[in-house]
Amino acid sequence: MTIINDRFTVNTKGNTDIIDITQKVKHAVYSHSLQNAVVNVYVAGSTVSITNIEFEPGLLVDLPEALEKIAPAGVEYHHDETWHDGNGYAHVRASIVGNSTMVPLIDGALQLGQWQQIVLIDFDNKSRTRTVYIQIVY
Ligand code: ZN
Repeated sequence: MTIINDRFTVNTKGNTDIIDITQKVKHAVYSHSLQNAVVNVYVAGSTVSITNIEFEPGLLVDLPEALEKIAPAGVEYHHDETWHDGNGYAHVRASIVGNSTMVPLIDGALQLGQWQQIVLIDFDNKSRTRTVYIQIVY
């Protein structure tokens, strides 16, 4: 078994900023000219997520609206009693959505659906620079 580690950074605006990172992931993976592998895409941080979405204008409104119902901003969270950083909602959203995704590489192609993009969502209440780690196992 061999492991390749790759990474890139993403500058975000925070506040549930949804950024399509599909091309950056493809660029990183295809640069190694592999045929078959497990590709893990992971972001470090407790107020940021990685997931999949159809990156079209409607869903870019629908997903934040759904998360606003589950973990609304602007209400009291116990987390804010600990750090007073006002981002309890961001931590809860990030825990629910998760911080990694796996995409199989088969016969040299990442197996993403035609309307399936990989996105980074930054829930924090300020702009951030995030590091995305790509770990390729084959
Ligand atoms: Zn916090």
